[in-house]
Amino acid sequence: MDTADDRPLRVRFAPSPTGSLHVGGARTALFNWLAARHAGGAFILRLEDTDRERSTPESEAEILRVLTWMGLDWDEGPFRQSERDDIYRECIDRLKEAGAVYAAWETAEELDAMRAEARANKRAPVVRGRRDHTSEEIAAFEAAGRTPVWRFAVPLPGETVIDDMIRGQVTFDHAQIEDFVVARSDGSPTYNLAAAVDDMVMGITRVIRGEDHISNTPKQMLVIRALGGEPPQYAHVPLILGTDRKRLSKRHGAASVEELEADGFLPQPVRNALVLLGWSYDDKTTTFTLDELVEKFDVSRISKSPAVFDLKKLEVMSGRYLRAMDPAEFADVLVGYLEGTGYFDGKAADAPDLARRTAPLVQRKMSRLSEYDRLAGWLYRPVEFEPEALAALQEDVKTSIQCIGGGLGRVEVLDDFTVDNIKDALSDQLHIQGLTAREFLEPQRIAVTGQSISTGIYESLALLGREESVARYRAALALLAESWQGGD
Ligand code: GLU
Repeated sequence: MDTADDRPLRVRFAPSPTGSLHVGGARTALFNWLAARHAGGAFILRLEDTDRERSTPESEAEILRVLTWMGLDWDEGPFRQSERDDIYRECIDRLKEAGAVYAAWETAEELDAMRAEARANKRAPVVRGRRDHTSEEIAAFEAAGRTPVWRFAVPLPGETVIDDMIRGQVTFDHAQIEDFVVARSDGSPTYNLAAAVDDMVMGITRVIRGEDHISNTPKQMLVIRALGGEPPQYAHVPLILGTDRKRLSKRHGAASVEELEADGFLPQPVRNALVLLGWSYDDKTTTFTLDELVEKFDVSRISKSPAVFDLKKLEVMSGRYLRAMDPAEFADVLVGYLEGTGYFDGKAADAPDLARRTAPLVQRKMSRLSEYDRLAGWLYRPVEFEPEALAALQEDVKTSIQCIGGGLGRVEVLDDFTVDNIKDALSDQLHIQGLTAREFLEPQRIAVTGQSISTGIYESLALLGREESVARYRAALALLAESWQGGD
C-alpha cells in the first residue's frame, strides 16, 4: 500500500542514547537500513539525546559501534538533537505565530486535579490548558515567577488518520489527544516536537519504528502539518515478545545486541534472526546474505502480529552459520573473538596459536563462540575434574581403570603421535578389551580433559602431545586407585 509518493526514499534510525542497543532497536535499524538500500535511498542516523540526564556519550558510541558491527552504515549523520536547538526554537516560534500553540500556565497540581476530575466523570484524562486567562491573571503569574509551557492546540472536533504501511488506516479522534506540550517552560523542545521537526526538515519520506510509538504519530503529524509540511509515510512494526509471550526484556537472556556479540554470535546470524522478527520472505528461508536481504526486503511483507525472539532459534542459525564457514576464516574469527574477550590474558604466549590449532576441532561443535572454553578450555589448564564427570568414572571404578590403563599402555609407546596413529592404536585396544567405542573412549576423555564434553578424543590427545597425555592418564589412574582402595 504505497502512497502516491515518488520522492526518493529517505529513512532514519533515531535511537535515544540512554543505554545499549536492544534487540527491538537493532531490528528497527535493520529494517530502515534495508528499506533504504533496497530502494537506493538514504539512511539517516539521528541521536535523540534531548533527555540530557539519561543520554550519555558512552551509549552513543556504543550504538554507533554496534550498528557498524551489524554492517549497517549510514549516509547522513549522526545528527544530535542536542545540537539542533536553534532549529526547534525557530519552529516553535513559527507555531506561535500561526496560533497553533498556546501558553499554558497550569501547575503540576492543577494538571493532576484536571485529570482526576476527568476520571471521576468517566472521561479520558485528556489535558487541555485554559486559554481564557485575562491579562491581569497572566501578569500575576509572571509576577509570581511562573513561566508557561507551550501546548499544541489540537483542533476540535477532528481526527488524524495514519495510513500505516503495516497496520492500514488507524484513526485517532482528536478528542482523545491531549494538547501535548511542544516547548517546556525553559523553551526547550519536547520529544514530539523535535522528532516531528527533524522528520520534516531532514526530508524523511518514511518512518519505520516500533508500534509503541503509534500514539505519538498523530501528534507529530499535527506538528508537521501546522508547519506547512507533509508527514512521511509511517510503518509501525510489531512488538517483540519473549518465548513466554511477554514483552522482550533482560529476563529472556540476551536482550541487547552487545550481549549477543559478547556471547559469540556473529553478525550474519544475528541479522537473520532480527530480520525475521516480523518480516519473512517465505515460510521457510531463514538464512540470507546481506545482499539477499537488500534485494528481497519489502516493508509490505512485515506482519502486524507480535514477533517472538527465541534465543534457541538464533543458536540453531548461528551453529549452522559457523559450520558452513571457511575453516581459515573461522579460525581467524575465533581467535579474534577470544582476543577481544580477553581470553588469552594471563595464559601462555602461544595460547592464540593453540587456539588456532583447535579451531577445526571445535568448528562443528558450537553454536556460539562463547562455547569455546567449555569445549577446549581444558587444554589451557591442568585437569580439573567436573564433579559429574568424575562421578561417572567412579561409578564403575574397575572398568574405568581398565579402560584408562588400556589406553595408557597404547599411548605411551606410540612414537609418531598423530591423530591417525592414536585412532588406530585406541581402536585396536578397544577391540581387544571387547568394549564399545563409547564405553572405552569416554573414560579416556574424562581422564585427559576432566570433562565429558570436549573436542574429539584423538584430536585432543594429539594436541596435548604424548608426554602431557601420559601424565594426565597417570594422574587419573592414581586418583581412581584411591577410590578403588576405599571401595571393594
Ligand atoms: N528515540 C525514539 C526511541 O528510541 C525513537 C523515535 C522514533 O523512531 O521516532 O524510542
